[in-house]
Amino acid sequence: MSKTPKKQNRQPGIEAKMDPAPEYIKPSYQGSGKLKGKIALITGGDSGIGRAVCVHFAREGADIAIVYLGEDIDAEKTKALVEAEGRQCLLIKGDVKKSGFCKKAVQQTVKKLGGLNVLVNNAGMQILQKDPKAIDEKQLEDTFSTNIFAYFHFANEALEYMKAGDSIINTTSVTAYRSSPSLVDYSSTKGAITSFTRSLATNIVEKKIRVNAVAPGPVWTPLIVATFDEEKIKKFGSETAMKRAGQPSELAPAYVFLASDDASYITGQVIHVNGGEVVNG
Ligand code: NAD
Repeated sequence: MSKTPKKQNRQPGIEAKMDPAPEYIKPSYQGSGKLKGKIALITGGDSGIGRAVCVHFAREGADIAIVYLGEDIDAEKTKALVEAEGRQCLLIKGDVKKSGFCKKAVQQTVKKLGGLNVLVNNAGMQILQKDPKAIDEKQLEDTFSTNIFAYFHFANEALEYMKAGDSIINTTSVTAYRSSPSLVDYSSTKGAITSFTRSLATNIVEKKIRVNAVAPGPVWTPLIVATFDEEKIKKFGSETAMKRAGQPSELAPAYVFLASDDASYITGQVIHVNGGEVVNG
């Protein structure tokens, strides 16, 4: 049986070696207090899309807590970027595969920052396997525990503290809307995230807490260089209508919108930020 060699989800320091470096916020981005006084918890906030969300939320006036697995240098860089916007940044290191950790991370955020208004479920992992039979039980469990079970654990605990006007934003993926032959397990979790978003949104609608998702297309982040081979990296994004990958800076404004009062009539929805790939739903 041919097996695609497994790569580590992330190697330490990979973010600093990315060429070109990802853009986290456009120089032209002006904050306008859209999240003033809010407290946000962002999982996977140390790098990639999560870091961009942290920096945008901070520029819009929010204090930030980030959860990350082990990339201390990346997390410290995000903290510095948030603090440069004049906001607080709490770093919480741990494994979202553990439900107890997810609960504690929410509790720590509330205790140290004084509440929780926006939860961004964003941490994720993927391991390429050309043959689905090569996805062993451990990979299956790790992928589902990280990408969807953790979203449940964070949301359930966060809802203990959230009130009317607060919101949850989940990171799904374009792979939930079209096939991804080498990411059968990963794309399954992303489909689950979309359904989770819709069902949770309608379940808690009377609490006036909104639940939405963002579905990124190909985005230039450490996840990509950590998991794809050189040839795939070179072509990454070329299949989109815009024929290029997106930057984290192009994703984060969608999270700002969904977290802000501008999105007060929107729940259970997915915003597709994918370079023009037309998908339904
Ligand atoms: P990234 O590697 O920069 O971020 C992934 C984050 O997840 C890291 O910060 C890491 O600390 C965290 N993480 C992974 N496993 C964890 C664990 N067990 N415990 C705690 N934290 C853990 O990559 P990214 O591309 O910014 O990914 C962010 C989200 O965007 C993911 O959910 C990913 O599936 C999704 N996404 C990315 C793309 C893309 O092309 N980059 C496309 C669609 C969806």
